[in-house]
Amino acid sequence: MKRGALLAAIVLAACTTSSTDPQSTAPRATETARRSVPAGAPATDRIALFDAHVHYSADARQRFTIDEVLAVLREAGVRRALVSSTPDDGTIALYERAPDIVIPVLRPYRGPGEIGTWTRDGTVVAYLASRYRPGVHRGIGEFHLSPGEADLPVVRQVVAMAVREDLVLHAHAEARAVEELLRVDARARVLWAHAGMGESAATVGGLIDRYPRLVVELALRSDVASDGRLDPAWRALFLRHPDRFMYGTDTWVPERWNALVDAAESARTWLRDLPEDVARAIAYGNAERVFAAP
Ligand SMILES: [Zn+2]
Repeated sequence: MKRGALLAAIVLAACTTSSTDPQSTAPRATETARRSVPAGAPATDRIALFDAHVHYSADARQRFTIDEVLAVLREAGVRRALVSSTPDDGTIALYERAPDIVIPVLRPYRGPGEIGTWTRDGTVVAYLASRYRPGVHRGIGEFHLSPGEADLPVVRQVVAMAVREDLVLHAHAEARAVEELLRVDARARVLWAHAGMGESAATVGGLIDRYPRLVVELALRSDVASDGRLDPAWRALFLRHPDRFMYGTDTWVPERWNALVDAAESARTWLRDLPEDVARAIAYGNAERVFAAP
């Protein structure tokens, strides 16, 4: 979608005129979500979100200005966002405009194409050291890690930096790889991207049980809920570990910025399927606790 279409979507979503407005032809996400609210739930309760998985990479910067992406976050009701970008400049540009919203995470990728090579690229360590701003960056990631890579020298040095600087490692990895990462150093804190993407609630729960330093974000995990109702296994896991999960979306391609408002509304729908304190913890509180300034 071009910038004009994005702006149109923002304006449309922000529009408060009634649905009888003749200029309004498309259904609004907010109205669609409200129709599915169970009777008795307050339609005006728009729970604040902390999005634990946002990128503002070079391709997105070419499409959307800082003001435009901040407008999307505002419209989605995202009060804070964990942002990492390829390269890091995008994160810092966004942070400098909105330090109250953006929590920077330092990504080990200088450009696209380093997803599969960074773990064996010794220059990554010097790059991270050169970009790192103490007190600004709160984590290292999001990085991709395959099974068997956690013990590579570059990864071990990145883990050591995270432990030394008290940074969270934001890892996109399957269960085996994230467990290997947790085992590199017993002090390392890990934010597991996408709850492992394809891992089951049982697998995620097993790792959470074993590793108190593991927290999990739910970006792109559309399988946790359908039609606004949580999957029973995920719901049980959220109730068993209400302090370990975070909301997230993942703007991994520029087009994802056009989906954030709808993603927020559909998350609010399934969050209402939880006790209010658990919903607020997943929506905002857990990320705030983990990433709040020291
Ligand atoms: Zn991502």
